[in-house]
Amino acid sequence: MRVRLPPPQLDLARAYALGVALPLAAVALSMVLRPLVGAVPFALFVPAVVFATYLGGLGPGLVALGLSATLCAYALIPPYDAFGPSSAEAAAVAVFLVVGGALCWVASQLRDGYFERHTAREAAHRELQEWFRTLLETIPQMVWTSDGSGRAEFQNSQIRDYTGKSDAELAGGRWRRLLHRDDRAPTVALWRRMREQGTGGEGTLRLLGRDGRYRWFLVRAVHVRAVDGRLRQWIGTLTDIHAQKESEDAKAEAVRARDVFLSVASHELKTPVAAALLQIQKAHRMLRRTEAAADLPGIAQRVAASAASVERLGALVGTLLDVSRIATGKLTLERRRFDLTGSVTSVVARHAEAADRAGCAIEVDVAPGVTALGDRLRIEQVITNLLSNAVKYGAGRPIALGLARRNDVALLTVADRGIGIAPEDQARIFQPFERAVSAHHYGGLGLGLWIAREIIEAGGGAIRVQSHPREGSTFSVELPLAGGSSDPVPREAAPPADGALR
Ligand code: ADP
Repeated sequence: MRVRLPPPQLDLARAYALGVALPLAAVALSMVLRPLVGAVPFALFVPAVVFATYLGGLGPGLVALGLSATLCAYALIPPYDAFGPSSAEAAAVAVFLVVGGALCWVASQLRDGYFERHTAREAAHRELQEWFRTLLETIPQMVWTSDGSGRAEFQNSQIRDYTGKSDAELAGGRWRRLLHRDDRAPTVALWRRMREQGTGGEGTLRLLGRDGRYRWFLVRAVHVRAVDGRLRQWIGTLTDIHAQKESEDAKAEAVRARDVFLSVASHELKTPVAAALLQIQKAHRMLRRTEAAADLPGIAQRVAASAASVERLGALVGTLLDVSRIATGKLTLERRRFDLTGSVTSVVARHAEAADRAGCAIEVDVAPGVTALGDRLRIEQVITNLLSNAVKYGAGRPIALGLARRNDVALLTVADRGIGIAPEDQARIFQPFERAVSAHHYGGLGLGLWIAREIIEAGGGAIRVQSHPREGSTFSVELPLAGGSSDPVPREAAPPADGALR
């Protein structure tokens, strides 16, 4: 049986005093209430005995029992104020002693049971506390707790070991002095927010160690609420993330250096390559016009091959420049209305010869007068890339190029009947350096489709592929169509010279 009313731990004198006081109180009350309790004279003595036992123990209970029997016989059972030899009185006292004794025993059992349970609970509690304390001292993390008002309660020894400060030296917000100057304001703000909102929180900070150096920590705190919803405490941990942070910083620095190098190198290469290409193309044109070409067999051919190589070099430099722009978030696109039909036709015209050499007939089905919204040169770059890929991966087979209006978008498709792309590769080929072919069979960097996707998506369009291995691939590009006359976007100026590097 569970008793909810916990018995007090009384000293002996108080317990016996209770054993005397309760029967005296019962007799006094019974005298006052004699008309009521006259028929059952022991009525108030039974609870007096039970309480005296439960509150004071078996000894005081027995004292209360004996005293109650005496007082009752003397004052409440006729003949009053005397111990008469009546057998009725003796029988009543005997019954009271038996019943009272039994109740005394039950009450003392309840009391002992309570104390046994209480002691066992306390032992288990102490054991659990010890277990937690050992755990907190064993883990590498620093652990602290503070009460609902934010006052520090507990800090494990790792905090003292790392900071070299005692609990008192860190109390009252003095731990703030150990924060790195740059982390003080955000950390204090985080702590203030947690206290105001009564929530947990997380952040990173640098903390001064006893060796005079700062290390990076991840601080994480959770709030604990009592059953009534009141905020009881915060439990926080500090995890050393210094090595991780340093390697992240080093990595970020390396990436930054790479991007700067890429950007500077490609910028520096762009001008001489463009100039060389211009000169070689000019020389080639001049050679073809002079009669000297007939006297110098092979020269015109070599100049043409050089022009093609420099052109490829130019394309590579352009790709490097694009990669560096995307990596540094500096890919800027114009947003103008332009003649997409014209762009598609001119790209096809520029690549007709190369496609022809690869044995690819280009079937063109282009709707007239499609005006799109975007960066003309960049869109032409994308069409060029898709067409070059169709020639590269579909050599010897026809290519179909289509342009149509679909609702409010322009839909451009480039379909080949080449090697195709396995379903599991179709998403990843739009990621940087991802390729679905071996470098042994096909040259390339795996950057073209990534750059294309960046350009198309930055302009509000979409690019996707449908393909079956060995049957071919169809790349579709959706571009925003230019609106009506209310379109605020300016009309495209005269197009720059073809082949210019940007
Ligand atoms: P690259 O062609 O230089 O490798 P891309 O980014 O243009 O780079 O293409 C990424 C990969 O996608 C290619 O390596 C190839 O595996 C696949 N791919 C692209 N276009 C086609 C196509 N038309 N047919 C088959 N595979 C293609």
